[in-house]
Amino acid sequence: MLIALKKRLMRNKRVHIPIRTCISCGAKRSKGELIRIALNSRGVAVHDINSKTKGRGAYVCPNASCLEVLKNSKRLSRAFNTEVFMANDF
Ligand SMILES: [Zn+2]
Repeated sequence: MLIALKKRLMRNKRVHIPIRTCISCGAKRSKGELIRIALNSRGVAVHDINSKTKGRGAYVCPNASCLEVLKNSKRLSRAFNTEVFMANDF
C-alpha cells in the first residue's frame, strides 16, 4: 500500500514538468531552461535567479537574441500589463 503510493508520487513528479513560453520568441521550454523575469519593488524587470520574487513572472530564453528583443520591444510591458523597464545590469 505504502509502496504503491510512493510509486505514484514518483511517477507524478516525473510527469509534471512545468512548461513556460518565452515571451520573446514564443518557444516552449521547461521552466528550468528559461530565465524567470520578475518585477522588483520599483517596477523594474530583474532576473529572478532563485524564483524567489513573488508575483507575476515572465520567462525568456537565456540567449542574447531573445534578451535583445525584450529590450527593444514592448513585450515585457505587455506581459506584465504595465510599463516595464529592464534593469541595466539584467
Ligand atoms: Zn526565446
